[in-house]
Amino acid sequence: MPTHAQINVPKLGQVEVPTGLFIDNEWVESSSKETFPTINPATGKHFLEFSHAKQEDVNRAVKSSRKAFKTVWGNNVAATERAALIHKFADLIERDADKIGALESLNSGKGVRIAREFDVGDSVACLRYYAGLADKSHGQTINHFGNEKFVYTLHQPIGVCGQIIPWNYPLMMWAWKVGPALAAGCTIVMKPSELTPLTALVMCDLAKEAGIPAGVINTLPGLGSTTGDAISRHMDIDKVAFTGSVATGRKISIAAAESNLKKVTLELGGKSPSMIFNSADIEEAASWVAMGIWFNSGQDCTASSRLYVQEEIYDSFIHALTAKAKACAIGQPSDEFTSFGPLISETQRDKVLAYIESGRSEGARVITGGQKWEKSNGGYWVEPTILADTNSSMKVVKEEIFGPVISVSKFKTEEEVIDLANDTTYGLGAAVFTNDAGQQTRLSQKIDAGTIWLNQYGILHPSVPFGGFKHSGIGRELGTYGLEAYQQVKAVHQNL
Ligand code: NAD
Repeated sequence: MPTHAQINVPKLGQVEVPTGLFIDNEWVESSSKETFPTINPATGKHFLEFSHAKQEDVNRAVKSSRKAFKTVWGNNVAATERAALIHKFADLIERDADKIGALESLNSGKGVRIAREFDVGDSVACLRYYAGLADKSHGQTINHFGNEKFVYTLHQPIGVCGQIIPWNYPLMMWAWKVGPALAAGCTIVMKPSELTPLTALVMCDLAKEAGIPAGVINTLPGLGSTTGDAISRHMDIDKVAFTGSVATGRKISIAAAESNLKKVTLELGGKSPSMIFNSADIEEAASWVAMGIWFNSGQDCTASSRLYVQEEIYDSFIHALTAKAKACAIGQPSDEFTSFGPLISETQRDKVLAYIESGRSEGARVITGGQKWEKSNGGYWVEPTILADTNSSMKVVKEEIFGPVISVSKFKTEEEVIDLANDTTYGLGAAVFTNDAGQQTRLSQKIDAGTIWLNQYGILHPSVPFGGFKHSGIGRELGTYGLEAYQQVKAVHQNL
């Protein structure tokens, strides 16, 4: 199995792309020679075969990352030097944005313009933010001991970090993990999703070109139950950072605990509520909620999948939201205008359709959508879907669908909607639409979620922490918290 393949990319023509394992700055095959296939979600046809990293490959990658950590990265390099390399890396990603965006679109099904401007753009912004933060994290001096002693603290990189990421934002999730780890001085064993490994591999050549030393970023395509599990259980990995489902997060926590008690941070699922009060601007709120649920075709951990509307404006809000659903730019990923592409896989498409059926059978009213897109033609589109008159006992309100389906329920009072919004095992995001400033503050304090959006939805920034309450995760990414998640604090006591 070669480590590279040729593919035809719309508007770019034939492009050579990596499909092997990237260990110690070299492209290699899997020790088992095994591969796994990927599918183009817009056609349902075979896309590319990738090398499948096995235990022996994980061992090699960890060895390379450990050596790099001890010799050419971590405390061996000034933070300003790491920052310069991360900036150079970001420059190269920006240089190749058209190609990377096209490859991301092809592998994941998202619209090519969105992939280029949003996914690549935000990934670059994330790397640059952490390049800027690299030399701004210092310890403390603790000098209240008189002539007796002096204590100071050091912020040190955790070490070799396993990073396991999902398919919905393959490049952005990569950047959220790699940016802070590099800035902190950690080395990385990265496992992209088996559905979308391409752009994480493309990053490896750019890292090398930027001058990031061998072993700092090793990248291993592979399946969760083999490569992912081997990373989570590895005795010489110091931390595993994971984004994905709750079920997998649980398995990774157990594997980490059963092996070397490595540190674990988890960014998991969500079932984020939006609450629309009578005083809200209906048109504007509908635009935000529509973006919240239909961006990335609903495959978003903070998708605005549960909607609660105060009873006086219930019908008019549904009317406004329906117009937004019908205006979604649904189309082929290669079309610059497409903002709503196919779901990632046949399994995901069928799961979403089954949820819609379950909603119907439990009494929800399908206002719009509810079926495959008529022009799907082998791809995995499901139309933007609104299920009205839902209640808390329905599966579509309780479970994460991870597709373009929003449930709409009516509420009367503020107290009632707080209880409804918090009636979930998740706690990732929530949005409140009201013009009453006191109500904004009360709800911000009472809703159990890592992010609260007031009269807006889905806005993120590399400087703002992101993460979940309850089953939505452990720890925070982004911001200074995201850097600290890759650091240890060491206290040094010195007698005077
Ligand atoms: P998933 O849990 O199936 O897979 C995620 C990653 O984990 C993949 O790389 C997979 O190969 C790996 N994996 C699977 N089994 C494993 C195991 N036993 N050990 C180690 N690794 C294993 O999730 P997904 O379907 O790729 O992504 C969708 C989920 O991710 C949704 O629940 C979504 O809400 C969540 N998500 C959360 C965030 C966030 O920041 N909170 C962001 C994006 C996605």
